[in-house]
Amino acid sequence: MKRGFLTTSKAQAKLSKDTNLRVSTAAKPETIAVKKFLGVVENATVRPGGYETDSKERVMKERDALAPMGDLDEDAFLYTSQPSIGLKDTLQTYPDGWAECVLYPDAKALILATPGFPAALVRPSSRSYRVTSTPDKGLGLFSTRKISAGDLILSERPLTISPAWTITRMRFLRELTEQEKYLAVVYEWEKTLQPMFDRLCPENKSAFMALANSHQHDGSGPIVGRIRTNSFGLSCFQSGRFTAEEQRTMRKGVYSAVYNEISRLNHSCSPNVYGHFDIATFSYQIFAVRDISKDEELTVSYTGLYSDSKARQAELKSYGFQCTCPACRAPTESDMRRTISSSLATNNLGDGLFKLSLLEEEGLQSIREYSETLEFVMERYIGVGDAANAIIYAKKLVKCRHSANDAKRYTTAIGVQSHSLWPKKS
Ligand SMILES: [Zn+2]
Repeated sequence: MKRGFLTTSKAQAKLSKDTNLRVSTAAKPETIAVKKFLGVVENATVRPGGYETDSKERVMKERDALAPMGDLDEDAFLYTSQPSIGLKDTLQTYPDGWAECVLYPDAKALILATPGFPAALVRPSSRSYRVTSTPDKGLGLFSTRKISAGDLILSERPLTISPAWTITRMRFLRELTEQEKYLAVVYEWEKTLQPMFDRLCPENKSAFMALANSHQHDGSGPIVGRIRTNSFGLSCFQSGRFTAEEQRTMRKGVYSAVYNEISRLNHSCSPNVYGHFDIATFSYQIFAVRDISKDEELTVSYTGLYSDSKARQAELKSYGFQCTCPACRAPTESDMRRTISSSLATNNLGDGLFKLSLLEEEGLQSIREYSETLEFVMERYIGVGDAANAIIYAKKLVKCRHSANDAKRYTTAIGVQSHSLWPKKS
């Protein structure tokens, strides 16, 4: 048991005098949802107190990916390099790279059990982007030539992977305010992540520290701040241990990955690329969701895209900038199109085509609803025996979402006619 403030004589005296000040009656500290604070947070530099942590299950292993996990507590967190590397490996001997991770045992087991893991990185045939500074957004990625919808632009292994929010179990004095609890959480969170950072090779340490940090005044340390600014969420290490509710409210089982180049992708409310984490190659793969012209900035979205401009700007506050993309510059019409397309039920071909036109006008080819609607339209055309149009939408589907591999078989007349919805001859 690791103790904080509660072991001090002052705290003990306080506890014995006033039973109301006892910490939670839970048998042991727990991870709990804590409100997050942003911007300039008062007393952010004062070391927080009034809580205790339980880190007895903390396990430190050195580059031990294949070490047996045995009977580890399911709440243990493991410091591990993935894919596993030899003690003498460097980025020169292992150029695909590896991620320094903090993982629960179930996530590590899932990774090791993934067929093909660890496969070599899949690289595009030639480089189609450069990393350049922008006038107002720091560094960004820009195309160096025309890129077609569906093209793989880059794939990269993360520098770090860590749970999306604190996994340190804590108990608080009842008198603590929400802000004091939050400051205690980010303080402990930084300490938990420090060994992961220490394990990075020198090049990756520099790359990590060179990333922007928009959480410099809210109590986040340099590691937590950079993760909060630059990470991409990973929901693919779910082993079924956590419920959907725990994932949503406490981000349990969800991880954050930080990348050297991919983390430089800036935001747009009409993003032109789409990311997919491939566990076998242990890399994030970035694909174009529509045709991209030379010198265009490559963008992802940091927010939900169906919300209106005002809500998106509010979400972006934590990144410390205001979006000035076309949809945010003229929000009235854009908001209307997004609202209509999000609420439009597609019952027939006409609805589907109308929804696609709205989503394309808004540049929302990256969202799941776009590929779902493409599939719907493709199936309606198959259902009426219109092979030519079905093939057009099957091809669009394959291009906009790499994971829609099933649709590939409907890009030919023979394939379309093999579909169960194709009209049977009587
Ligand atoms: Zn915008």
